[in-house]
Amino acid sequence: MKQRRPLIAGNWKMNGGLAVNALLLAELWSGTRDLDSEKCDIVVCAPFPYLAQVQSELQTSPIAWGAQDVSSHADGAYTGEVSASMLKDFSSAYSLVGHSERRQYHAESDAIVGQKTLRLLEAGITPVVCMGETLQERKDNLTQITVARQLNAVLSVIDKSALGKIVVAYEPVWAIGTDVTATPEMAQQVHAFLRSQLTLANAESAEQIQILYGGSMKPDNAAALLSMKDIDGGLIGGASLKSRDFLGIIAAAKELF
Ligand code: PEP
Repeated sequence: MKQRRPLIAGNWKMNGGLAVNALLLAELWSGTRDLDSEKCDIVVCAPFPYLAQVQSELQTSPIAWGAQDVSSHADGAYTGEVSASMLKDFSSAYSLVGHSERRQYHAESDAIVGQKTLRLLEAGITPVVCMGETLQERKDNLTQITVARQLNAVLSVIDKSALGKIVVAYEPVWAIGTDVTATPEMAQQVHAFLRSQLTLANAESAEQIQILYGGSMKPDNAAALLSMKDIDGGLIGGASLKSRDFLGIIAAAKELF
C-alpha cells in the first residue's frame, strides 16, 4: 500500500475526432464502471475543441477531464489562445502545462510555464506541471539541474500555500513517444530529487503532491514504475489512445495503491 493516491492521466495530444473519441470514451466509461474512485484518480486531457464532448460523455463517470495547455494571459487580444476561465467553463479539473512538445515546438520558457501555472491556480484548475531532461542533458549529467530549474521557475511564482494544489509530471524527453522507458530506478531517483526540492518549499505539501512519471508507460511496464516509492501515477501519451492499454495501466495502479 502506497502513501499517495495514484493519478493516471491520459494526454491525447493532437489525436482523435468526434467519432473516435466517442468510442474511446464509451470504452473507458464501461471499463471504469466498478472503479473505486477512492483508489485511483483518472483524467483524460483532450484537445480544446473536444472538451465539450468529453464533458458531456464523462460527467457521470469517475473519470475527470482536462486540457493540454492554457494561455499565460487571463483574457484579451491574444488570438488563438484559450484562457483558464474558458477551460473552467467546460468543468476541466486539470490542465497540462510545460509539456516538452510545447517547450520544444512552441518555445515555451520556464517563465511562461510559471505564468500558465498561476492562471490555472487562479481558476481552480489543477496544473500538471511537466518537466524533464533531453537525452543530451542526461548524457551531460544535467538531469537534476534541468528539472530543478524547471520546477523552481514554477515554485518561485506560486504562493507556497498553493503548492499542494499542483501535480508534477517527470517526463524525460528521450522517453516520450519513443518506446524507450526510463528504468524504475532511474525514474525513482529523479522523483525523489523532485520531492526533496518540493520539501524545501513546503515540507507538508511535498508529502502529498502526486509526482507522475511519463514516457512510454504501457500496461507491461506500469506496475514496475508505479511500485517505486515516489512515483504516484503516470502521464500517458500513446497508450491513452487505446482503451485496453489505458485501462490496463489503471488496473496496475489500483493493484499497488
Ligand atoms: C506524453 O506525451 O506525455 C507521453 C508520455 O507520451 P508517451 O506515453 O507516448 O511516451
